[in-house]
Amino acid sequence: MSGRTTPGARRSEGLVQASPARPGTVYLVGAGPGDPDLLTLRGAELLSSADAVLHDELSSPELLELARPDALLEYVGKRGDEPAEKQLRQSQIDARILELARGGRSVVRLKGGDPFLFGRGSEEAESLADAGVPYEIVPGVTSPIAAAAYAGISLTHRDLASSVVFLSGTTREGQAFDFKELAGHKGTVCVLMGLRRLGAIADALVRDAGRAPSTPAAVVSAGTRPAQRVVVGTLEDIAARVVAARLPTPALVVVGDVVSLRERLRWYDAWPLFDQRVVVTRAEHQAAGLARLLLRRGARPIELPLLAIEAPPDEAPVERAAREVGSYDLVIFTSENGAERFFHALRGVGRDARAFGAALVACVGEGTAKALARRGITPDIVPATFRGEALADAICAALERRPGGAAGARALLPRALVAREVLPDTLRARGVDVDVVAVYQTVKKSPDALVELLERRGADVLLLTASSAVDAICDALGERLGALTEGLLVASIGAVTSETASRRGLRVDVTADKSTTTALVDAVERAIGAQSRAR
Ligand code: SAH
Repeated sequence: MSGRTTPGARRSEGLVQASPARPGTVYLVGAGPGDPDLLTLRGAELLSSADAVLHDELSSPELLELARPDALLEYVGKRGDEPAEKQLRQSQIDARILELARGGRSVVRLKGGDPFLFGRGSEEAESLADAGVPYEIVPGVTSPIAAAAYAGISLTHRDLASSVVFLSGTTREGQAFDFKELAGHKGTVCVLMGLRRLGAIADALVRDAGRAPSTPAAVVSAGTRPAQRVVVGTLEDIAARVVAARLPTPALVVVGDVVSLRERLRWYDAWPLFDQRVVVTRAEHQAAGLARLLLRRGARPIELPLLAIEAPPDEAPVERAAREVGSYDLVIFTSENGAERFFHALRGVGRDARAFGAALVACVGEGTAKALARRGITPDIVPATFRGEALADAICAALERRPGGAAGARALLPRALVAREVLPDTLRARGVDVDVVAVYQTVKKSPDALVELLERRGADVLLLTASSAVDAICDALGERLGALTEGLLVASIGAVTSETASRRGLRVDVTADKSTTTALVDAVERAIGAQSRAR
């Protein structure tokens, strides 16, 4: 054979040939019941690597943030309240999944709860099996288990129930479930898709399944989310109670003696911060950690950044400081932003943590210490309290131990363009030569969304996470500061921030005892707990 092809030529030949692409794998992934943290590790891994993600109203919107930025995201939901002609039929969903997979894409089909439990995941899997498209089923935390757990109801219990039945209140042709199937069953009954027929279901449990009218029953709406609402009653009165409480879907009905456990085991919706709407005005990149902390305590964080962190107007001094950092005796970080931006500048000049050489490192605040730790730096000086004055004392004490003492020592202070002068002034007064370098500036963002939120009383708690935040809030609300913050719990992260607030005429209801976001959230939790005990 003449003209043997080189490997390179063979590769390009392969590309040109119209060989049928191998279909991508389809993953039917259980998204869990609502709390996005209840996604499985396998689910998270697939979600963050898939080429396409098909989702519906039962999977939490937060989960889509895990998807690749370039992933194709498609809504294929069937909303109960939309006209039938606007909704995708199951056959159309099946066809869309096949089309994407046959185009060679890896597809995650996100399904609320578990894909196989009343989720029609089985029908989607059947269509894949018939078409010979490879698939994987990733089980999920199913809503009857999770919503009951978040309501403090254990579905089985040695003394109360030794079996549990999951059933659908609405069957294929829109007909009711035949409760005669349950005649003689004594365990717990979980009804999914049963809210709209609740009256008929409760009646049928008495008439056809032989349950006593006094059997405890509960309805858990929006289980595992801050919107969770639970109504408890008996088979006799649960339907009327649920109508009176206007519970929305999705909702789970639990019937059986285990419902009585809620009184003692209730936890999630008993947390002080549960369903509290907490305004976080921190700059976007800083808000995430605080928002997450609030979510984990049952609150609804509302992120409305009033400030953004940007490069300083003049970057030449930053670059110079990054090149010369090793020539200082001491480098002082007073904020997480300062640390982050300084390391950003170091990277910019092709250097890393080694550039610090023999310089001592001082730091204020836990967030700052963590930012340094991420770069492999353990600070030499950490003051006991987080005020500039205490830091100056701690620094001078450390410098005194050097051969030359504090006087004549050279210190670098990378910080915000506008900041308090207490620290550099105190150090200079003791003979330290301080270079203040602005590594970032905070710029204001539009306050319209905050004003609008407070006007419609859409918040319960306002967090003050820094003096700069206080200024931004007071500037934004202007003369209406008092009126718009009335009735809100205003919580400050520390003494300096509270002082700024009182200077600006903003009432502070509670101040954290340590300048950390965890202490701030703890303080809010205690204040709300005390308020509700007083009521
Ligand atoms: N495959 C899903 C169930 C889909 S059927 C799963 O495993 O959970 C939809 C029904 O699930 C709803 O009608 C409701 O009864 C129940 N459901 C889903 N999410 C719920 C939630 N957060 N709280 C209470 N019930 C929920």
